[in-house]
Amino acid sequence: MSDVRNVIIIGSGPAGYTAALYTARASLKPLVFEGSVTAGGALMNTTDVENFPGFREGIMGPDLMDNMRAQAERFGAELVPDDVVSVDLTEDIKTVTDSSGTVHRAKTVIVTTGSQHRKLGLPHEDELSGRGVSWCATCDGFFFKDQDIAVIGGGDTAMEEATFLSRFAKSVTVVHRRDTLRASKAMQDRAFADPKISFIWDSEVTEIHGDNNKLSGLTLRDVKTGETSQLPVTGLFIAIGHDPRTELFKGQLDLDDEGYLKVAAPSTRTNLPGVFAAGDVVDHTYRQAITAAGTGCSAALDAERYLAALA
Ligand code: FAD
Repeated sequence: MSDVRNVIIIGSGPAGYTAALYTARASLKPLVFEGSVTAGGALMNTTDVENFPGFREGIMGPDLMDNMRAQAERFGAELVPDDVVSVDLTEDIKTVTDSSGTVHRAKTVIVTTGSQHRKLGLPHEDELSGRGVSWCATCDGFFFKDQDIAVIGGGDTAMEEATFLSRFAKSVTVVHRRDTLRASKAMQDRAFADPKISFIWDSEVTEIHGDNNKLSGLTLRDVKTGETSQLPVTGLFIAIGHDPRTELFKGQLDLDDEGYLKVAAPSTRTNLPGVFAAGDVVDHTYRQAITAAGTGCSAALDAERYLAALA
């Protein structure tokens, strides 16, 4: 059995590394589980990040995450590229088990496991990510000035993305597999009133086409007639939902209806003392690197104060 740590951080995106930096600089020697597959989090899968403050010319996603990682490590964060496979957060001393079965103990745990955007599951989707295929209009809309764009989905997020993108795009085509939208009436009305936005109903994307490693178009299939058609677009925004990574915590931490961790905002406290949560695993509103980093900082400060009160 390991010694009892001050802090264990689960997750290594902007939220996890920022929590690691702050707790390391507070001499709390955090142990960070980065995950075995996607250490560095969601930004490892993208190219240019132009909206993280401090980088005048922008920065590539993986470079930004390497910098955050190195900065946390410089102050003594212990970083482990492994998955946490189970947790018991209910007692004063929390236990976290890694993939080798080793049990780690800590007085506080910061959860920053992020959320996974749902994919269409089609060939070329991943390789064209950041090269025409995107899951975030706020992040990438600016790159698509005067281009023809498709938005996939029929909920509030899809309508919000379409309306936002119409500021930049030449045209926005919403492709939805049903003949009605799930989005709220207000969001629908705004999209219907926008002259740049058109709709293709009862249709799904069956193929994503690339040309010179850039998105060049989509094949659509009408789900009622089976007919296929081509949609030449250079932007594809997939807005079919996110799945917060909260499976590990079910039954211990309170989740909302969509499966996100609940915290006592504006703090990062969960329902269990000594357990804090930050970043996209909590946030279904903003979902940005800077907001994840910001709440990662808050979680670190909340954990520090909790530990100080124990002493
Ligand atoms: P994530 O970055 O999702 O990191 C979570 C980490 O936790 C992952 O590394 C995961 O492996 C790890 N993890 C999960 N479960 C476990 C476990 N059991 N054990 C150990 N580790 C675990 N935002 C911007 O601000 N600007 C952009 O330009 C931008 N572009 C984007 C492009 C793409 C393609 C995507 C997908 C997102 C983009 N975003 C952008 C959004 C941004 O990446 C996220 O908001 C941000 O990464 C969320 O940070 P996070 O730390 O909460 O979670």
